[in-house]
Amino acid sequence: MIVILDPQLGRDSPQTKVILDYLRAAPGITPKIHQVTGAQQVLTEIYLVGDTSILDRADIEALSGVSRVVKVSRAYAVLGRHAGDSRSYGFDYNGVTFNQDNLNLFAGLCAVDTRAHVEAMLKAAADAGLNCTRMGAYKPRTNPYSFQGHGAACLPWVFELAGKYGIKVVAMEITHDNHIDEINDALRDAGHPTGVMLQVGTRNTQNFELLKACGRQSAFPVLLKRGFGITLEESLNAAEYLASEGNRKVIFCLRGMKTNMGDPHRNFVDFSHVPVIHRLTHMPVCIDPSHSVGNRDRAPDGLLDLFHATAQGIIAGANMVLIDFHPNPATALVDGPQALTLDELAHYIQDIQIARQAYLKRRQLPGQKKRP
Ligand code: PEP
Ligand code: MN
Repeated sequence: MIVILDPQLGRDSPQTKVILDYLRAAPGITPKIHQVTGAQQVLTEIYLVGDTSILDRADIEALSGVSRVVKVSRAYAVLGRHAGDSRSYGFDYNGVTFNQDNLNLFAGLCAVDTRAHVEAMLKAAADAGLNCTRMGAYKPRTNPYSFQGHGAACLPWVFELAGKYGIKVVAMEITHDNHIDEINDALRDAGHPTGVMLQVGTRNTQNFELLKACGRQSAFPVLLKRGFGITLEESLNAAEYLASEGNRKVIFCLRGMKTNMGDPHRNFVDFSHVPVIHRLTHMPVCIDPSHSVGNRDRAPDGLLDLFHATAQGIIAGANMVLIDFHPNPATALVDGPQALTLDELAHYIQDIQIARQAYLKRRQLPGQKKRP
């Protein structure tokens, strides 16, 4: 159950205290207070943990200062869509809006290697009108002898270059909670030239301590990759870990499932789940065609499988694309074989626009029922 307070009530107001005292008096119920910062106002919500069947919704709604009470299903209490739940979701971060209705493209390097490559990538992104990118500094590698990423050492110049090219958000995977502090410190020392979206990779989808650490902070939004060998429900519960700790700025990323049934793709492309996640939760949905397809093979129609998979996700309503590019894939230290080249960026964006227009037209077809 979620108790939504009147907009003007802050977490420390006397009226909020009266409401909290009332709720705490109910046996076995623990109220957890959340502050939600929207575009217009800050909303205070109280999440009730425990057996809420003993509570009378009308009694709570009658309390002065309570705007309304939403009954939630047990799963995904914070991120899930619940009956009668008309709360507005989506968020702004560093001037970029993320929600279930728009689309942002994060084209960039799988792994940061040289300054020249980072600069060439960011210049190409800026020239193409993009304001988001991906840059891997901490790389989780299968083989311990493979390049592990430059780590904190590259953050100062990556952030400086991102600022130089007007990049607002850099998606960056972290594999340990101390990477959050390293990123925070580097951004501060550089004077906040850009912003960072923390990425939790598929190998860490159920690293609950890392999720809790990302959830406890609210400086950065989080991109959570679906676990490659677990159910969708398990991955959505992992996302809920982030939100249950207080960070609701969460984007869910489909990146393919590990099974040889997807051969010759690196993973089995799972973008048909885009609308499923829209239906079950409020999260914007990202697709990662690079780590799903994993190659540069081309269909007889002339289009790369990477382009086809991207279009399939976009036409289903995806809200973000995370895609590997590289100025010189042959020299890339990680995932060169799946990287698009800079001269393919304009074509890629055009193809995305075609698929996006088609999706928007599909939404207008007569007979479509708008969601509540
Ligand atoms: C990545 O995006 O660089 C990555 C390692 O992805 P995943 O966690 O999906 O394998
Ligand atoms: Mn990669």
